[in-house]
Amino acid sequence: MSKKLLISDLIDEAKCYEQLRELKWGNRIECKECGSYEVRKNGHDQGIKHRQRYVCKNCNKSFTDITDTVFASNHVPIQKWVVCWLLKDNMSNKEMAKALDLPPKIVSDMRSELGNGVIKSNFIDNWDW
Ligand SMILES: [Zn+2]
Repeated sequence: MSKKLLISDLIDEAKCYEQLRELKWGNRIECKECGSYEVRKNGHDQGIKHRQRYVCKNCNKSFTDITDTVFASNHVPIQKWVVCWLLKDNMSNKEMAKALDLPPKIVSDMRSELGNGVIKSNFIDNWDW
């Protein structure tokens, strides 16, 4: 039997990360540790094709697209976070949990996290998805 198709399966992972990078950095990737823009790409996160890894040439700190964002608070794919964000005013935790195939407690935690903004350091509390 095939796996049930979830609404989050219809969301494009690459576009989610593209949007996140734009929101987080604009056109220049900055090392949050030392403020340097001398950053090089360092492959992708294991199993997550579009999540870029970076290393700072100045202080040698490693980070990824989701470092210092709400998406780092659990292992839920970014597509599910986006659905949770988009439908947060239209669905109960229970409905959302069913739609995303997640435990209701996780959905409840994600909602609280999203209420505090997507990017932790910048206090950005919204994004245009
Ligand atoms: Zn640095």
